[in-house]
Formats: sequence, structure tokens, C-alpha cells
Amino acid sequence: MDTKLVRAFTKTCSDGYAQGWHERNGGNLSYRMTNAEVEEIRDLFNEEAEWREIGTDVPGLANEYFMVTGSGKYFRNVELDFEDNVAIIRVSEDGTKYKIVYGLVNGGRPTSELPTHLMNLEVLKKRDEGLRVVYHAHPGNTVALTFVLPLSDEIFTREIWEMMTECPVVFPQGIGVIEWMVPGGREIGVKTAKIMETRNVAVWYHHGIFVAGHDFDEAFGLMHTVEKAAEVLVKVKSMTNTKLNTIEPQGFRDIGKAFNVEIDEKYLYERRTYEIGEKPE
Ligand SMILES: [Zn+2]
Repeated sequence: MDTKLVRAFTKTCSDGYAQGWHERNGGNLSYRMTNAEVEEIRDLFNEEAEWREIGTDVPGLANEYFMVTGSGKYFRNVELDFEDNVAIIRVSEDGTKYKIVYGLVNGGRPTSELPTHLMNLEVLKKRDEGLRVVYHAHPGNTVALTFVLPLSDEIFTREIWEMMTECPVVFPQGIGVIEWMVPGGREIGVKTAKIMETRNVAVWYHHGIFVAGHDFDEAFGLMHTVEKAAEVLVKVKSMTNTKLNTIEPQGFRDIGKAFNVEIDEKYLYERRTYEIGEKPE
């Protein structure tokens, strides 16, 4: 199948692989299709496919169609064989089941993180009808930071924001963090969806990142921005654990005004900076 949507979905998988975020079968991607995108290819759908349990309920997504990567499939292979690695699924009327109407031609099922993806897409739709993409990856620098930063939305966000001026403009609502949990189930999906009620970035400790976006560029760009800032922080922390200079809280307020974005004050707690060699108390 060769449509604009398939090309954008495939490019995101290839670009993420090129970044080194998708070792083996790591990561997953989902997209809530528009009516026009469904109509364009509806003739190809097998509506006779069997219904399967999602493992959670998403009544807000009843009868909608989603493009999702397959469980155990490798991102690097999506561009080689879309139909083998990706599925289009339909959610049932009551929001508890799905069926594969297209793709995964050699068998298999959608990503094991399907509950998290669908729960996220449900709260995102409620927040903003245009938020259609949910993307999960394993970027190394961000994961590394989960071993040295405390489990705190405020601290994680602030540390990342300070690394690149564009960060508070790209994700002014900040980052939500979740302690290490067993992935793949409903429980971690509930926690991630709670973050997605107000924010577009959730970090799973010692695992990876979930981001949301209106389109693939926005979701990929958000993942890229968080990971780039994390890379800078890893470099800084590799040199010293104290910063001689940084962006101060007033700087973030000024950025908010200049770029017309609302910066949440909870991230702008007062903290002094330290001389190199001086120990934080
Ligand atoms: Zn993962």
C-alpha cells in the first residue's frame, strides 16, 4: 500500500531506527486514522476478521481505525515490508475489543503496548481531537538519566529544559515520569494516560519515552528534542555535577512571554547555581 499516511508512518519508523532508538524489536508507533484516510483504503479491509480482547476498555475510541506496529516486529523492517510489520485495527463498539482489518499478513498481533497506546489516544482525543500520534522509543541518553535523576516530574522537566532554550517552547507542559514497572499491561497504561491528560511526554524509568503529537513530524520532533537535551545533560554531568551557568527561572518566564506559551510555575522552583568544585548541599 502506498499512501501519504503509509509513507509518513514508515518514515517515522526508519528515522527512529536511524537514531538508534529501536534496538531489536524495541519501540512502537500508533496513529488514529481520519475518516478520509479510512475511506481511501476501506476496500482493502477485511471486516470479517475475528474480534480480540484489548485488555482494557477505550469506549472513547469506539469504531475508530488505527495504524499500529506489530508485536515483536523490528522498526528497521517496516520500510522493507509494511504489510508484514504493521496492522490497521478497528476498535469495537464497546471499546473492549479490536480486530485486524489490514496488515500483519504473516500473522501476529499489534504491539504488546496496545493498551497503553489506545488509553493514551483516548485521553489525547478528549484533550484535542487533532492529537493522533503516539510514539514509544528507547533513546539512550534519556534512559541513562533515569538512573541519576530523582523520580520527580518537576526536577526531570527542569533539568531537561535547562539544557536547550527550545525545550520549554516545544513542550511547555513539561514531562511526566513513571517509576520502573512491568510493561505491556493495563496498569502502566493507566499511569501513562494520566500524564497524557495534560502533557505530551511521559518517561518510563529505565525503559524509554512515550510522546504524543498531531502528526508524525511533531511526535518524532518531540522525541528528538527531549533526547537531544538529555544528551547535553549527560555530557554536562560527565564533566561535573555542578553548573557554573544555566537558564534561570526568570529566563523561562521570559521565553514563555516571547513565544506565547504558558510555562507552568511548578517547574520554576528556586535553586541556586554552584561554582565548579563546590558541592551542592
Ligand atoms: Zn519499550
